[in-house]
Amino acid sequence: MRRSIATVSISGTLDKKLEAIASARFDGVEIFENDLLYFGGSPRDVRAIASDLGLEIYLYQPFRDLDSQDPARFRRNMERAKRKLDIMEQLGAPLMLVCSNVTAGAADPDLAAEQLRELAELAAERSLRVGYEALAWGRKVRTYRDAWAIVERADHPHLGLILDSFHTLALDDDLAPMASIPGDRIAFVQIADAPRLSLDVLSWSRHYRCFPGQGALAVDRFTAAALQAGYTGPLSLEVFNDEFRASPNRPTAIDGMRSLLHLEESVRKIVVPAAGAGERPARQVQGVDLFDPPPPPPLKGVAFVEFAVDDASEPKLRAWLEALGFRSVGRHRTKRVSLLRQNDVNLVLNAERTGFAHSFFLLHGPSVCAIGLGVEDPVAAIGRAEAFKSHRVAGRVNPHETVIPAIRAGDGYLVYFVADQPGHATALDNDFVMEPGSAEGTSEAGGLRSIDHISHVLPKGQLDSWILFLRTTLGMVPEDAVVLPDPHGLVHSRTMRTPDRVVRFPLNISDDLRTTTARSVSTFMGAAAHHIALATDDVFAAVERFRAAGAAIMPIPANYYDDLPARFDLAPELVDRLQASNVLYDQDDTGAFLNAYTLPFEDRFFFEFVQRQGGYQGYGAANAPIRMAAQAQQHARLHPDGLPRV
Ligand code: MG
Ligand code: MG
Repeated sequence: MRRSIATVSISGTLDKKLEAIASARFDGVEIFENDLLYFGGSPRDVRAIASDLGLEIYLYQPFRDLDSQDPARFRRNMERAKRKLDIMEQLGAPLMLVCSNVTAGAADPDLAAEQLRELAELAAERSLRVGYEALAWGRKVRTYRDAWAIVERADHPHLGLILDSFHTLALDDDLAPMASIPGDRIAFVQIADAPRLSLDVLSWSRHYRCFPGQGALAVDRFTAAALQAGYTGPLSLEVFNDEFRASPNRPTAIDGMRSLLHLEESVRKIVVPAAGAGERPARQVQGVDLFDPPPPPPLKGVAFVEFAVDDASEPKLRAWLEALGFRSVGRHRTKRVSLLRQNDVNLVLNAERTGFAHSFFLLHGPSVCAIGLGVEDPVAAIGRAEAFKSHRVAGRVNPHETVIPAIRAGDGYLVYFVADQPGHATALDNDFVMEPGSAEGTSEAGGLRSIDHISHVLPKGQLDSWILFLRTTLGMVPEDAVVLPDPHGLVHSRTMRTPDRVVRFPLNISDDLRTTTARSVSTFMGAAAHHIALATDDVFAAVERFRAAGAAIMPIPANYYDDLPARFDLAPELVDRLQASNVLYDQDDTGAFLNAYTLPFEDRFFFEFVQRQGGYQGYGAANAPIRMAAQAQQHARLHPDGLPRV
């Protein structure tokens, strides 16, 4: 499949856009008219730049409002079109995009067809072509079927239909009739996704389009329908997005490529019938070759969380973790790295003075610098990640130490793929001198069993990029977006999780700079793990044990507990117990959620105790504003040992 992107989709001047597009390995581009108009060089210069970069120019766009009931006006439009055809010749762009009229236009399809035919004839004289696209807000032509009816009527070999996934899916239009359009009459296919919004279609399209996989439209079914019709041309991203216009263009271009690869993978599942036993699956579909990466690795869980520390913060964090019930179980054979454990939770403290963790520490202070994910086959997992444009990161490994393959998650921490095979010791233990008796688990009341979720805070504009990364590389799926009120602004939250919920990463982002969420990003200057939620079967015992170690739980206002019986039918004794332990409560039809928070560690991150009852699968979103308000009010009085006390 040839892969293309419209220059309007990324930021920068035209030459810089082309460089970013080429570096993300696209085959070609659509040149957006304004990008050319604003550029200092001639169309021939642009042609040369693109050619030097190995990019084909597939299309020049847009030409608006061609057809007209008024013959004099149509003649003027044709004069305008001639100039554009001149430019296309110089540019080396073979196809002009004409979009459906949003002004009065031709009153009937016959006249529109006649006028488009005249333009196609003009284009044919120069060996150029015209493609006709229905805008979802066009005056008379809104659907691809409306546009096809006109293209079919015009019946000119230099005129074809342009399909755009946004215009079709935004109207919830029927995809079935697409199959009856001859594939060679589809001149071009444009691809964009979008979140579901209740907004007029024009504003929705101009500001909120996104790459496939970042939104909620069935872009895969749309693309499959176009391919099933017999289309074999490029798939071209055409994304108008306010954030993308303002973000650095190279990462955006790579996200675009990643999204197209993922789209091809999804389309492949629709259009290629599963091969029977012993048969080779078909690779070719209607003359196109669809991307076929290794499947996403089934994640077995979070194998470890690694903190970057220095000599000053290491003992403080260790004291915290011990108060949480973790025990030191091993020291690394050759590095200043130690391992703490409790049941299935492994925490690594890395105080090395060189390497990734150290540079991460210099930039971010004590923080999560790596997350290890358990997978059956780390080599397959890294193969998938590299297929989706992640770069493998190699650290220093001494002889006889385990090589654990890793990639960088965005501009944030490292993701390690750890072999998790039943009956085998974890890859971690191999590199550590283990303390005697370290294999025994803790099973006392309030013991922390596993990592329930790791909540992230992302810098402005990076939510879509992270969704795409976690979706493509790790096979995670998004949950619905929620908006949470902080005392100082709004926090947008979207959870990515594995289909079986074994790994869950709530992602939070805030444009309002004074929210606790935004403040933790400005501290971190990059994506950060902002709290680690630990699962327990007895949240009250977990809180009690933490307090008994001299540490403090985030205080929750009494008003919250006064209000609880109004929201839920709870026994007064339970409400008293919740209040005494600063435990928050939520429930739904399937079960209940009890959770409590520690104070932040050096204003960087904090821990959460989570007890799930029944089938409750949420994160207590209704209580998140209480937590954020409590954090805004809380000024931790730090004890010299680093344990916050109240
Ligand atoms: Mg379009
Ligand atoms: Mg949480």
